[in-house]
Amino acid sequence: MMNNQEAIVAVATPAGYAGVGVIRISGNNLLPMAQTITLTNKIKPRYCQYSHFYDSHKQEIDSGLLLFFQAPHSFTGQDVIELQCHGSPMVLQMLLKRCLELGCRLAQPGEFSRRAYLNGKLDLVQVESIIDLIHAESELSARSATRSLQGKFSQYINHISEQLIKLRMFVEASLDFPEEDIEFIAGAKINEQLQRLQTEITQLLANSNQGVLLNNGANIVIIGRPNVGKSSLLNVLANEEVAIVTALAGTTRDIIKERVVIGGVAFNLIDTAGIRETHDEVEKIGIQRALDALTNAEICLILLDDSVGITQEDKQILTKVASTIPRLFVHNKIDLTHKAATVSLLDNATHVFISAKANLGIDKLKEQILQLVGFNHNPRDTFIARTRHVEAIQIALQHIATAFSNWHNLEILAEELRYAHNSLSTITGEFTSDDLLGEIFSNFCIGK
Ligand code: GDP
Repeated sequence: MMNNQEAIVAVATPAGYAGVGVIRISGNNLLPMAQTITLTNKIKPRYCQYSHFYDSHKQEIDSGLLLFFQAPHSFTGQDVIELQCHGSPMVLQMLLKRCLELGCRLAQPGEFSRRAYLNGKLDLVQVESIIDLIHAESELSARSATRSLQGKFSQYINHISEQLIKLRMFVEASLDFPEEDIEFIAGAKINEQLQRLQTEITQLLANSNQGVLLNNGANIVIIGRPNVGKSSLLNVLANEEVAIVTALAGTTRDIIKERVVIGGVAFNLIDTAGIRETHDEVEKIGIQRALDALTNAEICLILLDDSVGITQEDKQILTKVASTIPRLFVHNKIDLTHKAATVSLLDNATHVFISAKANLGIDKLKEQILQLVGFNHNPRDTFIARTRHVEAIQIALQHIATAFSNWHNLEILAEELRYAHNSLSTITGEFTSDDLLGEIFSNFCIGK
């Protein structure tokens, strides 16, 4: 068991040489430790003080800034000391050693945030959004993580939980007093409230799905026969020369992955080997990998050469793409056919006309990609989310649906509402197993 009262210490800045390095300590009654390190007793909470930091022989290790946050007004809710020194790995090691001598132990990954959570400073969604903010790949995902950290996502959950609690109280009261004959009134009220809950949870699910997309991104597989321009398209979307582009069929022998940000959403663009019948063993492996990549695709771009038109080989490739994968037909090389860069709907499928080489229609293609993954950017409603949140919301929604179909049976209704409430509570951490906590905090870096 982790002891949450011991003083913990960690270097909070990344390893290596830097202008400034930060050491962070959290624990109970840390003022004497701060006084011993700085050999001064003039330490004021929440003031930034220029100080000298000393070793056990009273020799100066370094000088810098000292911050002392007194419990409960700190990130962890305990006393917190921050020592800002020069960003020298050696200085940081000497200061760390001094803190260990004074009774600290090394912090485990995420232990500062774990304490913040245990002391009610942050809920679980906020804790997770710290990691997501640190790893944000676009401005939009960083802003969305900040909104989750500020509690935007938690507010939605709490608002729905409050309504659930009220409804549960009403249903349970009706259960306790059947002789009051409130069934008739209860029926209308319960129905109306279940309806409202269903609408709000459905909206929350849609917003959370967007949050997951901003967090994890999505896989786009580019597929097509050799030489239609797959690598060229990957390059233009990635804005750099990542794949080899030549006029020889079968140049891209393996799959090439590139992380690109489109409209604030990160995508794994996967350029596959041109799919065709071949006797070349190496090429065969590449083609198999292309087909495997398709199984994990959120979207598939089926690339066609507009100067040639749709060939038998293109039709053959199409049979390899499962009908469940959302797709766009991308007609490349319109610079040769002198067509306009347009988007059209043919036989219920979207066709985009572009030129990767002449950079025509690429913005339209990007818009279509965002539409296809269901990204509907409304900055005010965006927050970062995780798959586990979406799963919990889906479970809550299923219980609300079962509650709906059993609204006349108060006992089943009460039970279903309780399950729905518990599922939502796992998101913010009010009702969460130790295993889940362990998993979440283990993803943190040390010092956070
Ligand atoms: P891949 O085999 O499908 O990856 O195709 P590449 O991207 O390697 O391109 C094959 C050839 O088509 C290269 O010579 C490219 O320069 C050319 N190409 C790609 N896109 C276009 C385009 O939009 N217009 C024209 N004219 N040529 C293109």
